[in-house]
Amino acid sequence: MPDFDRLIDKKMAEQIQPKKTTSTNKFSAWYQSSDENHPERYPLDQIIYRCPHSGELLQVTHDMELLRRKTAEQWKEIFTSRFMQATGPNASGVWSKKEWVCPEIDDENIVTIGEGRTPLFEAGRWAKQVNVTKLWIKLCGNSHTGSFKDLGMTVLVSMVKQMIARGQKIKAVVCASTGDTSAALSAYCAAANIPAVVLLPKGKISTAQLIQPIANGALTLALDTDFDGCMRLVQQLTKSKEIYLANSMNSLRIEGQKTVGMELIQQLNWQVPDWIIVPGGNLGNVSAIGKGLLEMKAVGLIDRLPRLVCAQAQKANPLYESFQNNFKKLVAKTAEPTLATAIQIGAPVSMKKAIRALKKFDGIVEQADEDELANACALADRHGLFTCPQTGVALAAFLKLVQKNEIKSTDKVVVVSTAHGLKFTDMKTRYHENRLKGINPRFANQPVELSADVEAVQQAIDERFK
Ligand SMILES: *Cc1c(COP(=O)(O)O)cnc(C)c1O
Repeated sequence: MPDFDRLIDKKMAEQIQPKKTTSTNKFSAWYQSSDENHPERYPLDQIIYRCPHSGELLQVTHDMELLRRKTAEQWKEIFTSRFMQATGPNASGVWSKKEWVCPEIDDENIVTIGEGRTPLFEAGRWAKQVNVTKLWIKLCGNSHTGSFKDLGMTVLVSMVKQMIARGQKIKAVVCASTGDTSAALSAYCAAANIPAVVLLPKGKISTAQLIQPIANGALTLALDTDFDGCMRLVQQLTKSKEIYLANSMNSLRIEGQKTVGMELIQQLNWQVPDWIIVPGGNLGNVSAIGKGLLEMKAVGLIDRLPRLVCAQAQKANPLYESFQNNFKKLVAKTAEPTLATAIQIGAPVSMKKAIRALKKFDGIVEQADEDELANACALADRHGLFTCPQTGVALAAFLKLVQKNEIKSTDKVVVVSTAHGLKFTDMKTRYHENRLKGINPRFANQPVELSADVEAVQQAIDERFK
């Protein structure tokens, strides 16, 4: 991959100033290749995304010995007490785990909008209906910009703020997006007064998603291509170090996103569920959740691992196809249009990282077709949720794995909901109006138009609730 073979810029490395000491600097973290053959370390404020030798993505590596200087019980107490705090960095689900996420950031450079600390919805009635012990939905979309992307973006933008404060020259931060990354980048950059550029596939994202970067003042570029095309352009643009890359191939994002798994286990009082199911597109999230849980296990906060499921839309399923051949041959393809637009990705950037994670978690890749995802989404709403189509993919995968008896009646399951349904009202409206091609809307509910007449209203109530 010649694109990625940027050798470390010596001059840039020399410009990096020695760190100011702060109380948390005794914990250290650095970039290191996710390929174990290359142990070289790079500071987190260096502009580098891939191992210069192997071309593999870097990952943030923590000094686990330092983290182990506190016992698991001490860490649990610390995290629990911080969870109660109302202001400051600890009011964030990400920064309340700062030592594990990005210890290098000075508090004054943290750009937070209260991300994380999202509800873990217990779908008790649904669990009973499908005969599993417990079903929880982790509502990551109940967040400032309406998706889990806030979790990674707070880390990345805070680092950029710190780099600029220390004199590094960054003209703008740029991302390719299926909608939610651009919303998160724009909001955090606006909060920090950092220029943001977003590259979007024209006509392939929802109106609610498109208006977010526009409102936040980002340079919003709607391009005549798909997400994979935007991603290729971003990789070319960010060869210039003045333009900083904000996609999840920048592993700072992964550090924020890994708190999803840590936080849901904290909410379960440190009990590990049997399954965690997450929809996958560019595959940063599945890698992130895996990384966080492995670190928790290394320090002793948990003593076993759940099984991980990555759920893909059948129309954009390169990981599913690779799973079918035991990951012997990695498949990249052109993603076809799907209702789950945020995961319409054919060449996932974090494919190898995700596969490494799945292998360690006895993982499964499942897929859902358009009818399955749309109906799972609507069924979830009947249980009190308001679900995005990507979460519909994960929920459909859950239902299929129950049916195949992979998930057993004794199992406890967490499904990660990645975005808020309010960002996808076009799709949901068309579902209920039976205007989605090829989909049989089994849970459609239509408004009844009546004259303002008490008898007519009474009759409508009586008809519905006989
Ligand atoms: C980005 C996104 C995904 C995919 O996450 P990856 O980490 O790229 O696999 C899933 N759902 C929603 C709503 C998203 O915005």
